[in-house]
Amino acid sequence: MLPKISDVVIIGGGVMGASVAYHLAERGGVSVTLLEREEQFGLGSTGRCAGGIRHQFSTEVNIRLSIESIKMMERFPEEIGQEIGLNLIGYLFVLDNERDFEQFKRNVALQHHLGIESTVLSVDDVQRRVPLLNLEGVVGGTIYERDGLADPNSIVQGYINKMRQLKQQANPALSINLLNNVTVTDVRMAPSGRVQAVVTNEGEIATETIVIAAGAWSGQFGEMVGVNIPIVPVRRQIAVTTPIRQLPPDFPFVLFFGQSLYFHPESGQSILTGKSNSSEPVSFNTEVDPKWTETHLLEAMHRFPLLEQAGLLSEWAGLYEVTPDEQAILGRLPGVEGVIIAAGFSGHGFMHGLVVGKLMAEEIVEGRAYSINIDDLRYERFALGKDVSEYNIV
Ligand SMILES: Cc1cc2nc3c(=O)[nH]c(=O)nc-3n(C[C@H](O)[C@H](O)[C@H](O)COP(=O)(O)OP(=O)(O)OC[C@H]3O[C@@H](n4cnc5c(N)ncnc54)[C@H](O)[C@@H]3O)c2cc1C
Repeated sequence: MLPKISDVVIIGGGVMGASVAYHLAERGGVSVTLLEREEQFGLGSTGRCAGGIRHQFSTEVNIRLSIESIKMMERFPEEIGQEIGLNLIGYLFVLDNERDFEQFKRNVALQHHLGIESTVLSVDDVQRRVPLLNLEGVVGGTIYERDGLADPNSIVQGYINKMRQLKQQANPALSINLLNNVTVTDVRMAPSGRVQAVVTNEGEIATETIVIAAGAWSGQFGEMVGVNIPIVPVRRQIAVTTPIRQLPPDFPFVLFFGQSLYFHPESGQSILTGKSNSSEPVSFNTEVDPKWTETHLLEAMHRFPLLEQAGLLSEWAGLYEVTPDEQAILGRLPGVEGVIIAAGFSGHGFMHGLVVGKLMAEEIVEGRAYSINIDDLRYERFALGKDVSEYNIV
């Protein structure tokens, strides 16, 4: 049942919303309401993502977010009580031009500075690591063997189940409301610019703090709170093949960076593959485009010829949540009071969801996130014209 009042209302029950809610609930002391319009949590981009996790970014803030998030994944089964399919199979970037290669060498230097032992590879090294790839035109690569995969749904369910346990434990002061089939239709703001209430299809909740964690739909809340939120939805597709008997057990996550084309082992010996369409228009369309499937799979078979022997098992599309600099927007929105945002990850949000939940709980309870400096990802960067672009975007 919808509570009449809640200290914090979180809009969106994907990895971001679930993680923010859990980290607030775990601290205690504030009542928390998580609102998801779908029948289950995690059916948005989180449930449609490729599950890739990596430390290999070009900006310090993203590398730090990955370091902490992946540590949290390692502790997840023990702390949250849920296995999450963490599989550190390695993540190989394959590069086909000198400009990218030089940039990736600089990225590796930064990663080393932050304690991540990623490696620069020659073309021969890449071929030795994954002999099955067609490396025509490739100039080199980078790899980190402690990157890989995790299961997004298990992380969402782990947080949700853990919150249900916390709720059952005898702590009457702890009010945790986890609600499905509730659509937020408006946010009521006082003339002073302070949040007053969240309006839903089920009624209103009085609150002074909201968290916009609605992924690709987050931009829609800008008008409601009176701040432009530059996040747009862009469709991305994935295909999964039938099992390939010859797939070696050490096959890593492989990304042909120049073509935004990736492969990783899925459920044993199948391959999950995706390719970003740089001409994809902004829209909420999540229908599979068969023309794009054809373009994608032809290129996939060119780079990984063994795929010719496989069938297509399943395919789907989901939405990236894209910002002008393809970086997330995190923390309090300026010019209004009580509006926190954790969205706009432009294709790498699943892996950062765990630590971002912790950081947003700090921001809400203690006034400012402190365990990682997220200033580069705050909304204010747009007005300051600060360039915080991330190079390693898929
Ligand atoms: C094809 C694809 C592959 C990807 N691969 C990777 C990857 O390998 N690694 C990685 O880290 N990231 C990846 N991503 C990105 C990642 O999936 C997202 O960044 C991340 O899941 C965002 O989580 P979220 O909780 O913010 O959004 P979502 O999971 O989309 O959750 C937002 C929720 O808000 C709900 N909602 C929206 N509007 C309302 C409303 N008005 N009222 C109530 N609820 C509402 C939605 O129903 C949804 O459940 C990929 C994304 C796609 C599409």
